[in-house]
Amino acid sequence: MTANEIRLIQPDRLADEWLKAQKQRPKPTDDQSRLQAVLALAALTIAHDSGGPFAAAVYALDTGELISTAVNTVVSNHCAAAHAELQALSLAQQKIGNYTLIDRPCVLVSSSEPCTMCLGAIAWSGIQQLVFSSTREDVEQIGFDEGPITREWRQQLTERGIRVSGPMLREEGRQILRDYLNHQGVIYNARPLGPAQI
Ligand SMILES: [Zn+2]
Repeated sequence: MTANEIRLIQPDRLADEWLKAQKQRPKPTDDQSRLQAVLALAALTIAHDSGGPFAAAVYALDTGELISTAVNTVVSNHCAAAHAELQALSLAQQKIGNYTLIDRPCVLVSSSEPCTMCLGAIAWSGIQQLVFSSTREDVEQIGFDEGPITREWRQQLTERGIRVSGPMLREEGRQILRDYLNHQGVIYNARPLGPAQI
């Protein structure tokens, strides 16, 4: 790695195990089955201590092909930006060879509602649809900072041509968050929550 290179490493073993398990099942062809697959990846991440309790995947809307997957690796990569959604979108763009996914209609399937940063990444990505499970409130309930957001974020994405589906399978998504907490997972906020310390 050169001094001017940014690298975000996904846990390979985890992806391999997940892909192997996925191959035993029918190919997910709808929002719900894709979300179930992503929640399974998040559960595997917790079981293997391989990252935060968040996973995401990008699927092509026309063929149903799985383009990319990612889990949250903020702690292991020493990078606050290493959220699952941001990495799944970036990997999809690099795979397709374009900074926008607009020419290859895709859906981003995420275990949770996007944080402030990922909402921005979604808006710039060229993705056509977002599917998510647990809500921002669910994520904040276990102690994560999701950042400032406008109440109209769904409408704002819709106005950009991005369809938003969720919360879907919310109870399953919340269980993943609870499992992380029970597993003594790290709550990796930049600073303690609450009013800024002056
Ligand atoms: Zn995020």
